[in-house]
Amino acid sequence: MPALVLNGKALSLEMEAELGKRVTALRAAGKGGNEPPILATILVGDDPASATYVKMKGNACQRVGMESRKVVLPQSTTTEQLLAKIDKLNADPRVHGILLQHPVPSQIDERACFDRIALAKDVDGVTVLGFGKMAMGEAAYGSATPAGIMRLLAHYKITLAGKHAVVVGRSPILGKPVAMMLLNANATVTICHSKTQGLPDLVRQADIVVGAVGKPQFIKGAWIKPGAVVVDAGYHPGGVGDIEIPAVIDTCSAYTPVPGGVGPMTIATLMAQTVEAAEKAAG
Ligand code: NAP
Repeated sequence: MPALVLNGKALSLEMEAELGKRVTALRAAGKGGNEPPILATILVGDDPASATYVKMKGNACQRVGMESRKVVLPQSTTTEQLLAKIDKLNADPRVHGILLQHPVPSQIDERACFDRIALAKDVDGVTVLGFGKMAMGEAAYGSATPAGIMRLLAHYKITLAGKHAVVVGRSPILGKPVAMMLLNANATVTICHSKTQGLPDLVRQADIVVGAVGKPQFIKGAWIKPGAVVVDAGYHPGGVGDIEIPAVIDTCSAYTPVPGGVGPMTIATLMAQTVEAAEKAAG
């Protein structure tokens, strides 16, 4: 049987259509005269990739009828200046979600800045408090890429309970939260990282493999057992991910294409969580 394609692009379009209706309803019910929900995006410095990601998020806001408030700060910004900006956005009732684009310049204490974002506006799921609540199974917005992966797996009814998931990568925005989400969905989870020994043999045991390494096609097709579900969070120039997907298309049971798998789900999840925050704020 051919492998199931976990089509994040198609699902993200479905999500956007549904979110558009919810935004229309919010605007119609608004006391302030048709005011759209707002996602504030903060871009610090001049990293072109970050600028592109922020632009893509702004475009997605437009597609669903929301507004994005773009905050652009210079490369020389200090931690104190960024914290002050976040405080302002936290206090602004018109702003429903705050996205601080990662990475920020090295002189800034990124963790302190992430953690300054009010929990109710942490629609990108980057705060320690949000992570802790999510890990404990309490209500919190999940980190956008992992939450998007979980939504994609749920949409395609991929069984997680009792399965062995091997996550390669342990970053705060991807590997760690996706591992916790898979654990909460009753998978048995192995988390691998740069000091892991015998990585190919660990990956060979996986019913579900999540690639979150940041190195093009680092996880080889030969490491992946037939019938596994393959989730590739990576994206690199040339349209390849962190997993050697072409080598497993005929042997795995399901896979996320690159592009068109995890990437669009990240943005759609950010939009969904911002709409949810706006709905909560509207009561
Ligand atoms: P990251 O912060 O660089 O983390 C990479 C992780 O991979 C680290 O935990 C690192 O281990 C581990 N690693 C590095 N070399 C390894 C090795 N030889 N063996 C095993 N593990 C190794 O990256 P990230 O932000 O999590 O991103 C990971 C990938 O996802 C990237 O390709 C990125 O482009 C992609 N991404 C996509 C989206 C999206 O929207 N689609 C969003 C975010 C990221 P240590 O902890 O030991 O250093």
